[in-house]
Amino acid sequence: MTVTTPTSTIVRGDASAFFGPSELPPLAHYINGSFDISTAPTSMTTVENPATGKPLAEVPNGEAADVDRAVGAARDALTTWRRTTPRERADILLAIADRIAANADRLRRLEAVNTGKPPAVTEDDIASAVDVFRFAAGATRVFTEVGSGDYAAGHTSIILREPVGVVGAVVPWNYPLLMAAWKLAPILGAGNTVVIKPSEQTPLSLLALVEVMGDLLPAGVLNVVLGLGPEVGGRLSTHPDIDMVALTGSVNSGRAVATSAGETLKRVHLELGGKAPVVILPDADLDRAAEAIRNAGYWNAGQECGAGTRVLVHREVAERFTEALAAQVSTFVVGEPWAGAEVELGPLVSKAHFERVTAFIDRALADGATAVVGGGPLDGPGYFVAPTVLADVAADSEAALEEIFGPVVTIETFETVDEAIDRANAVKYGLAASVWTRDSAHALELPRRLDFGTVWVNAHLVIANEMPWGGFKGSGYGRDLSAYALTDFTRTKHVQMHHEL
Ligand code: NAD
Repeated sequence: MTVTTPTSTIVRGDASAFFGPSELPPLAHYINGSFDISTAPTSMTTVENPATGKPLAEVPNGEAADVDRAVGAARDALTTWRRTTPRERADILLAIADRIAANADRLRRLEAVNTGKPPAVTEDDIASAVDVFRFAAGATRVFTEVGSGDYAAGHTSIILREPVGVVGAVVPWNYPLLMAAWKLAPILGAGNTVVIKPSEQTPLSLLALVEVMGDLLPAGVLNVVLGLGPEVGGRLSTHPDIDMVALTGSVNSGRAVATSAGETLKRVHLELGGKAPVVILPDADLDRAAEAIRNAGYWNAGQECGAGTRVLVHREVAERFTEALAAQVSTFVVGEPWAGAEVELGPLVSKAHFERVTAFIDRALADGATAVVGGGPLDGPGYFVAPTVLADVAADSEAALEEIFGPVVTIETFETVDEAIDRANAVKYGLAASVWTRDSAHALELPRRLDFGTVWVNAHLVIANEMPWGGFKGSGYGRDLSAYALTDFTRTKHVQMHHEL
C-alpha cells in the first residue's frame, strides 16, 4: 500500500485584513437585557486565535453570584414570556434569524478567528443557525397536543403543553454559535427563559449574537454568563431556581452535570461525545464512500461529534477503500481561515487539544497502526495537525474505541457482517453511525441493529434541521433539532374538568 507523505504546507495570509479588534463584541456577561460592564471580574480567560496562537481578547470568568443574578432575571422574565402566544414567539425567532443573516459576514469572521474554521464551515454554521431559528419559529406554531377526551365519567381531560421554566444551557467550543442556536431556538420557542454559558475558549460569537439581536427579546428572557465549566456550569446544574439543564459537551462534563442536577431533581438534556463507525460492506460504492468520508471525517478538522472517524471495512475491499480514501485525504488544503476560499481544513481549537490529538496519534502508531496519510502535527504557529488516515488499527485499541476529535480517520477490517455490527456497537458512545452497501436487505436491517441515535445509509454527516439529533449510551439523552427538541423543553399538564361547573 502506498504511504503518502504528510501534508506539510499551511496556506497563510493576513489576519489583520480579515478581522479587526473594533469588530469584537462587548466582553461581558449579558444579564437582564444588557451587557454587565459594571461588575469587576476577579479573574479573566484569554481567548486565542488558534491559527496563530495569539491572544484575541480577555473575557471575565463568571462566578456563582453572576449565575444567581442571571437566574433571577430569567425567573422574573418567565412570568410574562411563558404567557406569550406561539405566534408572538415565532415572530421574534424569525426576527432573530433575520438579524443573524444580516450580520452573517461579521459573525462568520468572528467565529473563524476564534476557532480557526475554514470558510466552508463558518458559512455552513451561520446559514444553519439562521435555519434553526426559522424552523423553531414554524414548529412552535404547529406544535399541538392530542385532543381533549372524556376518560372518567362526567369529566373532560385536556393536555396542556407548558414551558419547563428557566433552562440552564452549556455549550462547547466546536460550533460555538451553532450549538447555541440549537439550544436557544427550541428553548425560547417553547416559552422558556434561559441562562446560557458558552465555552470559555470560544465565547465571542455568542456575545456578538446577543449584541445584534438582544433588543428583540424582553429583558431577562436570554442571559449569557461567561466562565469556566465547574464554576458557572456547575452553578447552573445545582441552582434551585433552574428547572432544567441542557449541556452539549464531553462525557465527563455530562456526568458532572447529571450528578449535580440530581440534587435538585432538575431535568437534564445531554448531547455528549461520539465515535461514529462507518461500516463498509463489500458491495459498497467505495469511491463514493471515500469521497463522503473526506467530508464527514474531516469537517471542522474532525472536531465534530458525529464525524465518521472509525471505518470498519470488509477485508476483501479494505485495500481498495484505503487507497481511495488516502487519495481523497491527500488533496486537502490546510490553512488559516483568511488565507483564501480554497482552504478546507483549519487548526485545532487550542494548544491543549492539539497536544491531546497528537498524543492520540503517537499512541496509535506505537500500538501498531500505519499512517497512510499524515500522522502528526504541522509546523506552527497555530495548532495544525495533518489530515491523517491510520490503517492496521486493532479492534480493541484506544484509537478504535475513544473519541479523538481531530482530523484522524482510523481503518479496521472485518470478515462478517455480524462481527462488524458487534464491533461498531462496542464503544461507550451511541451518537451516529453509517452503513455503506447496495444490498437493500442490509440497508434496511443494519440501521436497526446499530445502537446509535442517527444512522445513515450510503451517507454520513448529512444533517436536517427537521430531524432529531442526539445519542444513546455515553452520548447522552435528549434531542436537539426537530419538533422533538421542542417536546424536550416542555412539560405536559393534565387538566381534568368536571362537566358540572
Ligand atoms: P467540554 O465538556 O469540555 O465543555 C463543554 C461545555 O461544558 C463548556 O462550556 C465547558 O465550560 C462546560 N463544562 C465543563 N465542565 C463542566 C462541569 N463540570 N459542569 C458544567 N459544565 C461544564 O466539551 P468541549 O471540549 O467543549 O466539546 C467537545 C465535546 O463536545 C466532544 O466530546 C464532542 O463530541 C461533544 N459534542 C457533542 C455534540 C452532540 O451533539 N452530541 C455536539 C458538539 C460537541
